[in-house]
Amino acid sequence: MAVHTTQGSYAGSISWFQNCSAGVSAHYVIRSSDGQVTQMVREADKAWHIGNSNGYTVGIEHEGYVANPSAWYTTAMYNASADLTRDILASRALAQKVYDGASGWNAVLPDANFDVKGHVNYASQSHTDPGSGWDWPRYKQLVTSGSGSGGGATPTLTWPVVQYGNTGERVRTVQYLLQQWGYSVTADGSFGSTTLTAVKNFQASQGLGADGVVGNASWPALTVLAQQGDSGAKVRAVQSQLVESGYAVAVDGVFGPGTDSAVRSFQGAKGLGVDGIVGENTWNKFAW
Ligand SMILES: [Zn+2]
Repeated sequence: MAVHTTQGSYAGSISWFQNCSAGVSAHYVIRSSDGQVTQMVREADKAWHIGNSNGYTVGIEHEGYVANPSAWYTTAMYNASADLTRDILASRALAQKVYDGASGWNAVLPDANFDVKGHVNYASQSHTDPGSGWDWPRYKQLVTSGSGSGGGATPTLTWPVVQYGNTGERVRTVQYLLQQWGYSVTADGSFGSTTLTAVKNFQASQGLGADGVVGNASWPALTVLAQQGDSGAKVRAVQSQLVESGYAVAVDGVFGPGTDSAVRSFQGAKGLGVDGIVGENTWNKFAW
């Protein structure tokens, strides 16, 4: 999801986006004064807001100007936007990987690391929105805590603690996910010193306390959406957990129809929404 600034008024942006010849659009526009949200494009459809990344990105435009953030980025707007973002993430079973500003407002950030970041944080962009005045730590806090308007907060998941000396499938899942993030660890299900170092490095890279303990803070950061067509270590993590739960799937790192149907069966058995997509709720059930 991409956070934008309109560089114009709310009403002006809405009429601009309704003009087909303008060649620009976004899924949502939010008003500065009171946080009113207008949906311009259905989420399933592509909007024209972010060049190469249009095909997989939901765009949220915030009324205002990059050069004058204090006048336009109001509490009402932050709260409304955070509620909307949390809702979109939840509806897609995406982890709440919201940029926290730690690398600077204009850093180009890998798509894999953040589900929510600014226009300027996508690769190959000429725009600078939402600019240096967008409060990313505050925004992340509002999205993840659900404290924006007080309504619609998603229940916080509780995760098992996994740490040095532990063994078993949970540890193996952590190790596969570390591999997915580029760390060189063996998925042997034994939490030794190499895994400990990788966990600490991962935590530091995410702005988390680097204590080497994988719990409520680190699990949501570690987990990555996995679905049919995906491949790699995250898929092995899913498949290995499925085997652990008694499903006959190959741990080959290729998320094909067999894995998809096992995931759906697992989701049904655990009372989750059955969509074949391994998001945070499904990872959580695997982890337990
Ligand atoms: Zn933009």
